[in-house]
Amino acid sequence: MIVTRTVAKRAAAATDGFDCRRCGACCAAFRVSFYWAEAEAVGLPSTLIEQIGPWYACMAGSNGPSPHCRALQGEVGHRVSCSVYGQRPSPCRELQVGDARCSDARHRHGLPALSDATTIDLSPTSGQPVSPKR
Ligand code: SF4
Ligand code: SF4
Repeated sequence: MIVTRTVAKRAAAATDGFDCRRCGACCAAFRVSFYWAEAEAVGLPSTLIEQIGPWYACMAGSNGPSPHCRALQGEVGHRVSCSVYGQRPSPCRELQVGDARCSDARHRHGLPALSDATTIDLSPTSGQPVSPKR
């Protein structure tokens, strides 16, 4: 059953209960970079990592003019999942739903900022969640 709820134009209300598996924009908007040793510490597969300097690495696919993390599965703005959700690096854990980078990422994909949205589909979905980036 599709559940649609009208929400107020306050970010807190608009982001309450939003399911990132219906978005994924921040996984395909920025370079997802982190201190190189973090990859080994969290157990990220080397095939999903790109070294970008002596001290930093990034998620493969996120370092270019059209970033799209290689771990992101599905279609942005519809249904997505992260294939390494349990091992995702710190930028993915730090970005918060409804913050400025979330809004920027959604804007890049033609999606409204959650704080501006008046109607958000809150129906549940399946698969591993995604979570964002620096
Ligand atoms: S944090 Fe924001 S941009 Fe990232 S998946 Fe969730 S709603 Fe989309
Ligand atoms: S949450 Fe997963 S798919 Fe999204 S950028 Fe991080 S590692 Fe990639």
